Amino acid sequence: MSYLAKNYNRKKISFVRGKGSYLYSTSGKKYLDFVQGIAVNCLGHAHPKLIKTIKNQSKKLWHVSNAFQIPEGEKLAKKLCQKTFADYVMFQNSGAEATEAAIKVARRYFYSLGKPNKNRILCVKNSFHGRTIAAIFASGSKKMTEGFGPRVSGFDHFIFGDHNSLKKKINKNTAAIMVEPIMGEGGIKVIPDWCLKELRKLCDKKKILLILDEVQCGISRSGNFLAFEKSKIKPDIVPIAKGIGGGFPIGAVLMNKKVATSMIPGTHGSTFGGNPLAMACGNTVMDIVNSKKFLKNINTLSNHFLSNLNKLKEKFPKIIKEIRGRGLLIGIQLHNDQAKFIKKLMDKKLLTIRAAENVVRILPPLNVKKSEINYAIKIINQVCKELEK
Ligand SMILES: *Cc1c(COP(=O)(O)O)cnc(C)c1O
Repeated sequence: MSYLAKNYNRKKISFVRGKGSYLYSTSGKKYLDFVQGIAVNCLGHAHPKLIKTIKNQSKKLWHVSNAFQIPEGEKLAKKLCQKTFADYVMFQNSGAEATEAAIKVARRYFYSLGKPNKNRILCVKNSFHGRTIAAIFASGSKKMTEGFGPRVSGFDHFIFGDHNSLKKKINKNTAAIMVEPIMGEGGIKVIPDWCLKELRKLCDKKKILLILDEVQCGISRSGNFLAFEKSKIKPDIVPIAKGIGGGFPIGAVLMNKKVATSMIPGTHGSTFGGNPLAMACGNTVMDIVNSKKFLKNINTLSNHFLSNLNKLKEKFPKIIKEIRGRGLLIGIQLHNDQAKFIKKLMDKKLLTIRAAENVVRILPPLNVKKSEINYAIKIINQVCKELEK
C-alpha cells in the first residue's frame, strides 16, 4: 500500500533516471518525456552544467537566511532585471507563492498611495494561478475551490475573450488585472498580441496594475524569454517559477520600480526563497535560456513541430480539432476526451499531459532535438490512425 495521500490519481509508472529528453522507468523502458515535470526541466534531465552547478555550490553553501546578503541571488536578480521590464525581484519557492506575492505587491502599492480599498484582483474565470487558499479563489474555478471555504474574497472574474465583461467588471476597488499570456492548465490558450496591447491601454486608462502570470509560459518556453515580450508591452508585475530553476524549485516576482517601492522591510518574506543552492541553479539556467541563439532555435523547432501537427490535423479532422500554442508550449485539442489518447501515446513511450478543453499538452525540454520531435510526430500519427478505426 501507499502512505502517500490520495490527492493525485497517479499513473502506474515510476522512473529511476533521466537524460536529456528521455526518462528510464523502473521496469527498464525508455520514454520520450514531453512533460518535463510540467515545463520545469527546461534543459531536460541531468543537464551537465546543472549537475556541475549543484555539485560546486553544494560543497560551499546551501542555505542562509534572507536576514543576510545572498550574492548568488543578487546576481540572478540582476540578470532578470537586465533581461526584462523589471527593476526589482523577490524570490520565492513555487508558482503559487509567486502569484500570491504578486497580489500582495499590487495591494500594498495602492495601500501605500492611501487607497487601501483598491484591493480587488480581476482574473479569468476558470484560470489557474496555483493551489494555495488565495490562489484557488483567484482561479474562480468551482472544482478547485469546492470544500475549501470560506471563500477568500477580493477576486472578480471575467470570461476569457469577453472584452465587454472584462470592462464591466472593473470598478473603483479594482487594483489589478491578472492573466496568463498563454493559459497553460486552461488549455494552451494564447492571448493575441493586439489583446495584450489593449489590456495595457485599459489598465493605464483605469489607473490599475497589469499582472501577467508567466509561471508556465515564461523562461523562453514561448520562444521569447517572457511570453508577453512579443507584444512589446510592459506589465507591472510578473510572477515566474517553473522553468527558472531547471528542476530546482524557484519562484520569483518581477516588478517595476513604481510598485516595488511599496515593499518596505517586513512587508514580505520567505525562509527558503532565494537560498544560495536555488540561486546557483537559476543563474546557470538563465545563462543558457536567454541567449539569442537558444531562443532562435526554439522558434525553428516550434515552427517545425506546429506545421507537422497541423498536417496531422488536416489528415485526421475527426480526431484533432485544433493545434494551439507558441514556442514549445503546445496543445493538441481533440474533439473528444483526451485520456485515451494520452494513454496510447504513453503505451508507445511518449509522455504528455492533459490540459483543459480536451487538450493534450506537449512540453518538450527547450533543448530538444529535431529528431526527437520527429519521433514524437510519428507516434502521434500512429495513435491518430488507431483511434480513427
Ligand atoms: C503551475 C502554475 C502555477 C502554480 O505553480 P506551483 O509551483 O505549482 O505552485 C501558477 N500559475 C501558473 C500559470 C501555473 O502554470
